Amino acid sequence: MEKFDVIVVGAGLAGLAAAYTLAGEGIEVVVLERGDYPGSKNVSGGRLYLNPVRDLFPGLWDGAPFERAIVREGATLMARNRSFTFHYTGSELRTDKPQSYSILRSKFDRWLSERVEERGGMILAKTLVTDLVRDNGRVAGVIAGGDELRADVVIACDGVLSLLPEKAGLRAPGRPHDFAVGIKEVIRLDRQVIDDRFNVGDGEGAAHLFAGDITKGLFGGGFLYTNDESLSLGLVVSIEDIAKEEAAGDAPALFEAFKARPEIEPLIRGGETMEYGAHVIPEGGYRALARLCGDGILVAGDSAGFALNLGFTVRGMEYALASGYHAAKAVVEAKKTGRFDAAELDVYRTFLEDSFVLKDFHTFKDTPRVLSNPHLFGHYPELIGNLMRDLYAVPAGPKSPVFTTLRKHLTLSELWTMIVDAKELTKI
Ligand SMILES: Cc1cc2nc3c(=O)[nH]c(=O)nc-3n(C[C@H](O)[C@H](O)[C@H](O)COP(=O)(O)OP(=O)(O)OC[C@H]3O[C@@H](n4cnc5c(N)ncnc54)[C@H](O)[C@@H]3O)c2cc1C
Repeated sequence: MEKFDVIVVGAGLAGLAAAYTLAGEGIEVVVLERGDYPGSKNVSGGRLYLNPVRDLFPGLWDGAPFERAIVREGATLMARNRSFTFHYTGSELRTDKPQSYSILRSKFDRWLSERVEERGGMILAKTLVTDLVRDNGRVAGVIAGGDELRADVVIACDGVLSLLPEKAGLRAPGRPHDFAVGIKEVIRLDRQVIDDRFNVGDGEGAAHLFAGDITKGLFGGGFLYTNDESLSLGLVVSIEDIAKEEAAGDAPALFEAFKARPEIEPLIRGGETMEYGAHVIPEGGYRALARLCGDGILVAGDSAGFALNLGFTVRGMEYALASGYHAAKAVVEAKKTGRFDAAELDVYRTFLEDSFVLKDFHTFKDTPRVLSNPHLFGHYPELIGNLMRDLYAVPAGPKSPVFTTLRKHLTLSELWTMIVDAKELTKI
């Protein structure tokens, strides 16, 4: 029977961040990963906001395999037959410390796992954890490949469909309402073609989000990020909504229709699909978070529910990195007392409350409810699309005054609906 100081389950960003931090403190840590190698099972849109986690890992980022620094933002509201787009760029996005980068997880997680090993952490790939070991009700290790591995603390970083927090009684079984499904393709394109199509320079990248008819009015949206020599293109849709609305079709069909849109097809034209993956995303926000610790166990990353979709940003990776880091620091604190009960490990929650992680989740606690307003994904994209159509139209006969066109679309009842919806939007 093996005994470690800490067993981390899952070599995603949460697990690797925890192991990197623990190994840096001289704590004996093993990471158990079911995939063939770290990154092999991980799907993400691939935009990492570095600012919140830059200082947690000093010296780490210099050699990181970032794809491109994001210097152009874009968003498109898609109606059935038209769309409305805006772009944003600013000098703050073009500094020597860019706020966000595109990454590819198959490269990035592998690179981070090598940094863990350099510090003396152990990574065991192809190792599926199937259960927890308990001593008198407290977690004392895991069962992996039929073997019992013991540790003072287990850190569950086993992702969104996490098994361990449920087994430890820290999380109730998932409700469809709290999850979305994401489909993502990585499409190879020449570097120069990407620079030209997205109007970016060497090493610079663009990020673009899409909402509206692409999800047939259901809660969700699309994303497109430029990598060094590829694009990450994806679509996310609420699991509860898509299960209810048969007419919308299934997620792969929505994704194919998205790719065929005239706004998207020219951007991916000539590209070759290198990767295709589907994955679940936690979207329940603050109210759906797991309990963060128990006797001998901590929960971090998606496993705890740390992903936040604000519509214009989709964030999970830096919450994974930060929660992994703080879980490790909590173990370091508990080790000083030699006790690893929930009471000692609860310092993890304090660390998260003092950090951007729980502050963000608290600030945006109403976001999942407010954003589930179907008007945002059907009615408004159509309204804005139709308004734009009429403003830009030059008919064969005389053109209506602009005010008449505005009045045609922005009727009193329409304005009233907008006020009611806007009042809700003030809560996010
Ligand atoms: C389509 C999509 C787009 C997204 N876009 C973005 C984005 O642009 N930006 C952003 O910040 N976030 C994004 N997210 C969210 C982000 O990817 C996640 O929040 C983040 O990857 C969570 O990291 P993690 O380490 O907690 O979990 P994961 O990366 O899922 O890692 C969990 C690991 O645990 C392993 N594992 C699971 N069960 C076991 C077991 N029983 N035994 C052993 N190993 C196990 C898995 O193989 C995996 O390697 C997106 C997610 C999706 C699905």
